[in-house]
Amino acid sequence: MSDTSVSASSSNEFFGHPKGLVICFLTEMWERFSYYGMRALLIFYLTQHFLFSDEAAAGIYGAYISLVYITPVIGGIVADRYLGPSKAVILGAILLVTGHMGMAIEGSQAIEITVQGKMSIERDPFYMQIFYMSLALIIMGVGFLKANISTLVGSMYERRDPRRDGAFTLFYMGINLGSFLGAIACGFLLQYKGFGWGFGAAGIGMLFGLLVFIRGKHLFGDAGKPKRPELLKQILLPGINREIAIYILTLLGVLVCWQLMQNRAVVGGLVGASLVTMTLVVVMYGFLKCETHDRNRMLVCLFLMSYQIVFWGLFEQTGSSLNLMTDRNVDRVIFGFEVPAAAFQSVNAFFIIILAPLFNAAWIYLAKKGWEPSTPTKFALSLIQLGLGFLFLVYGASLATDPTQVALIWLVLLYLLHTTGELCISPVGLSMTTKLSVPSVVGMMMGCWFLASAAGNYVSGTIAAMTGSDTIGGEVADAGAALSAYVEVYSTAGWYSIGIGVFALIIAPLLKYFMHGIK
Ligand code: GLN
Repeated sequence: MSDTSVSASSSNEFFGHPKGLVICFLTEMWERFSYYGMRALLIFYLTQHFLFSDEAAAGIYGAYISLVYITPVIGGIVADRYLGPSKAVILGAILLVTGHMGMAIEGSQAIEITVQGKMSIERDPFYMQIFYMSLALIIMGVGFLKANISTLVGSMYERRDPRRDGAFTLFYMGINLGSFLGAIACGFLLQYKGFGWGFGAAGIGMLFGLLVFIRGKHLFGDAGKPKRPELLKQILLPGINREIAIYILTLLGVLVCWQLMQNRAVVGGLVGASLVTMTLVVVMYGFLKCETHDRNRMLVCLFLMSYQIVFWGLFEQTGSSLNLMTDRNVDRVIFGFEVPAAAFQSVNAFFIIILAPLFNAAWIYLAKKGWEPSTPTKFALSLIQLGLGFLFLVYGASLATDPTQVALIWLVLLYLLHTTGELCISPVGLSMTTKLSVPSVVGMMMGCWFLASAAGNYVSGTIAAMTGSDTIGGEVADAGAALSAYVEVYSTAGWYSIGIGVFALIIAPLLKYFMHGIK
């Protein structure tokens, strides 16, 4: 990372880390507050406000959460070549504030009408369009913000700086602090005030993120700036320089996403096509522009990124099928108080905040002894833990005598194992991407990291749709049948994940060899 690094002088440090890390932490915390706060409500908004069937809702949800992670490739490339990370983050944050505020425009609830014995749902087309447009703004906003804020974290450390993994762990805690607070705040606002309030809170959170970043962006020095500022000033059309052209194209991108959200059948193809294209781009870049060691590292990095397809495909049941299952089949009463299902979206984030420092300490302790697992081994372990989490819930469900009363502890155990799994893949992968990539394309590679996440999220929508049950007016018709559907899908998911994890464990030493001394 030497060419983009800001060497951290002690006056510029905060608890041994560059002060810019605090800005990345807070900006991403607020961004994730809005993202996860909104996401905790989304499936309920679709099934209870717009009265979509489980299957249709899972389709919309899946398309949204995959598009959200496709666009970081574009945001990463545009920042690498033209805008630089700081301008890209600000652009993303503005789009996000607008999108989340748009979600707060709730409009009238859909109604079920029966004409000549045939039931159909009537939804106000105007509010449906506002809804899709808001999602589109969020999708493009995440695209510009997510990869670039992560790249900025890496840019503050030299390639072999031992503080790098710790910095990403801290950053990841920021992500999850935001996610934790967002799910709780928006979940409770939904319960007591309605959807508009919940979504509005997400928008206000993002506004704080934007303000924090604008105040602190000077701390990144050259790492935040465009590499070739003269390119931005270049006039492309009368009165339009490249920078303005980028903003206009971004708005066109919003329109494209707005349409994509309404033509969801193409999203799967788009994810697939983007994966193939980016794989070819990275492989070609490796062969044409890199020397052998750098090329091997980039290829290993690309291969490891693909594990995320399995990981997020299953993990992301959290916001969709697990969220609905929690609502329908889990006993949510704690000390006489019924906790809203959406609030359980915060459990994973809570565990991350508690466990991330422990994991960090464990990695450092193991590293000192020479026993720290390599990145490929950590990834393999993450898949095994993910699978075990599902099998715990499946076992817990088999103990329930009433299908609406599965004991909460099994859900919590699932989240615990999913969290330990996440800690072995997600922050580790961000750090890996910044150290295995050559610096000139680190934004693009970070985009690829999130693209693999997009593929996982798309798969998760497909899996969630398999768990769908019949509903009447947004309520499940038969809780027993619903639980059986969840159990069947989750037990298959659990065993597959463990199997793939074991295979990944076997090939880990080979991958490590091709990382040439970078762990
Ligand atoms: N939970 C993490 C975040 O929101 C990782 C998400 C992902 O890569 N799919 O940043």
